[in-house]
Amino acid sequence: MPIDSDAYQELEAVVGPENISQDPAILDTYSCHATIVGIPRQGLGLGPWWERAGAVILPGSTEEVSEIVKICNYYRIKYKAHSTGQFPGAFAQGENTLTIDLRRMNRIIEINQDHMYALVEPYVTQGELFIECIKKGLAPHMIDAGSSISPLASVTSVAGQGDSAITRGYNERNALAVEWVLPSGEIVRLGSPDTPNAGWFSGDGPGPSLLGIMRG
Ligand SMILES: Cc1cc2nc3c(=O)[nH]c(=O)nc-3n(C[C@H](O)[C@H](O)[C@H](O)COP(=O)(O)OP(=O)(O)OC[C@H]3O[C@@H](n4cnc5c(N)ncnc54)[C@H](O)[C@@H]3O)c2cc1C
Repeated sequence: MPIDSDAYQELEAVVGPENISQDPAILDTYSCHATIVGIPRQGLGLGPWWERAGAVILPGSTEEVSEIVKICNYYRIKYKAHSTGQFPGAFAQGENTLTIDLRRMNRIIEINQDHMYALVEPYVTQGELFIECIKKGLAPHMIDAGSSISPLASVTSVAGQGDSAITRGYNERNALAVEWVLPSGEIVRLGSPDTPNAGWFSGDGPGPSLLGIMRG
C-alpha cells in the first residue's frame, strides 16, 4: 500500500515541497547497500537492492520530526530514521514506509572540554566530530565502520564497537543524554538536560534516567 496522498500533503506542509519526494530514482538511492545483500524486491533477484520506501522526507529540526511522527501515527505509516544509511536497519519495510532522512540536522552544537562530551545533531559524522575534538585535545571513540557514520545513530541504535572502545568505551555505553522523539511524537529529554541549566553531562540524573529508560 503506497503512502496516502492526504498524508503526503500534510507531510509536505511540515517541511516544504523541496524536502520531500516520491521520485523512484531518489527513493532507490536509499535502498541499495554495497556489502549487505537485501531482501529480494519483486521482479529483482537477491542482490544489493532492498525494499523501496513510499517517500523520503528531510526534516530540519526535532520539532519537525515530532510533527512527522504524529502524521505517520494518524495515517498508520511506518517510518525509519535514516542517518548516513550504512546499516540496513535504516532501510524501508515496503512502500508504506516513510524514510526520515536526517541530513539537514548536521551541526556540532557544543564540544565541552571540562566535562569531555559533545552535543551533536543526527547527521554529524564521526570523522567531522573527531577532527573538531582533536583541535581541543580530546579523542572520542571511533567505531570501525569508517569516518562517514553518525555517532548519534551508533550510541542510540547500534552496538558501537571498535578498536578504540577498549580505552574510550563502547558507544552503547557512551550516550550521556538524548533528546528523543518518542513513537507517539512527544519530545523527551533523558538525563541532565531535562533540568533547566544543568547541561548535558549526565544520563542518570538529575532528570529522567537514560540508563533506566533507553540504555539499560
Ligand atoms: C562494512 C560495515 C562495517 C561496519 N562496522 C561496524 C563496526 O565496526 N562497529 C559498529 O558498531 N558498527 C559497524 N557497522 C554497522 C553500522 O554501520 C554502524 O553501527 C553505524 O553506527 C551506523 O551509522 P549510520 O549513520 O550509517 O546509521 P544508519 O544506517 O542511518 O542507521 C542505523 C540504525 O539507527 C537508526 N537511527 C539512525 N539515526 C537515528 C536517530 N537519530 N535516532 C534514532 N535511531 C536512529 C536507524 O533507523 C537504523 O536502525 C558496520 C556496517 C558495515 C556495512
